[in-house]
Order: sequence, then structure tokens, then C-alpha cells
Amino acid sequence: ESQLYLPLRPGCPEIVSRAQWRAAKPRCQKLLGTPVDTAIIHHTEGTACSSSTSCQRVVKAIQDFHQGPQRKWCDIGYNFLIGEDGRVYEGRGWKTMGAHAGSKGNWRSLGIAFLGSFGSRVPNAKAQAALRSLLSCAVRRGALRNNYALKGHRNFMSTSCPGQSLYDLLRRWPHFRA
Ligand SMILES: [Zn+2]
Repeated sequence: ESQLYLPLRPGCPEIVSRAQWRAAKPRCQKLLGTPVDTAIIHHTEGTACSSSTSCQRVVKAIQDFHQGPQRKWCDIGYNFLIGEDGRVYEGRGWKTMGAHAGSKGNWRSLGIAFLGSFGSRVPNAKAQAALRSLLSCAVRRGALRNNYALKGHRNFMSTSCPGQSLYDLLRRWPHFRA
């Protein structure tokens, strides 16, 4: 007798669910009209992590900060986060508008943040592979248009995000459009 484990959607990365990282409930939510035409890449400019234990902790700390007295947002700002453990963490997810790129960007995009600071180095190979997989998954499931634009946060406002090294990397990726 053999067991066959088929992924729900072939080509999609394993996504660590909110329940798995013990997210607090969103305080409010706005529906994201999909498919969106843009993926906006960020770095968190905070602690990097390379184990599932440490990445879960970092993601939870970001949610605490975004929901806390300084930001007072409904929820963690990003739709997804990626750690150097090679995993994708569910933020607001596929169907909820994020808070990451202002009124020009939020409504039309998935906001995806690499955990760490990428001004002078790029995310490791596992994390880069996770982003590639997440983007093709997003197209496959109708969350992102086929001809989507890949952009950095700095293409929407004055910020160094997603860090110079990561931005230089993204510029060489398919779909990149400043
Ligand atoms: Zn950013």
C-alpha cells in the first residue's frame, strides 16, 4: 500500500499558514480585486532568519509591530513573506489588500517581503527559488496576471526598499519593469 501526496496546485510552494505561525486575527480586511497586475518586492530591513523556528518568530514580531501602537494597521502589511529557510509565510494572503506600497500600489499588487536587509547582499538561493515559485503559483491560480510587472517598493515611493543588492537582482528577472 502506498500513499500518494499530491500538492493541491502543482508548482506552488509550500506556504506556512497563519495558523502555523500563530498569527493574531486581522482587525479589519479589504478585499483585493484579483488578478492584480503587479508584484511588489520588499525587504523587511530587520532580522534575517534561516530556520523555520526563527523565521516564524520574526514573522510574528513583524505582525506585532504592524498591529501595535506605532503602525496600528489591521494586520501584517505584506501579502506574503519569504525567509532564508526557503519558506513562504502567509501574510494577508491572496485575497486581502496589503499595506505596503501606499494608495498607488496596494490595490493593484501582491506585496512580498524578504525577511532581512538586502542592501549589500541578496537573499540566498532557497529564498530566491521560493519567490520564483510563488510568482508562478500566483499566475497559475489567477491571483496575478500573466503579463504581470515585477517591481520594487522604490518604484512606488521614495525608499531604499527592497535594498540595492536585491533590487539589482530583480532588475535581471523576467517581468521586471521599473
Ligand atoms: Zn518596502
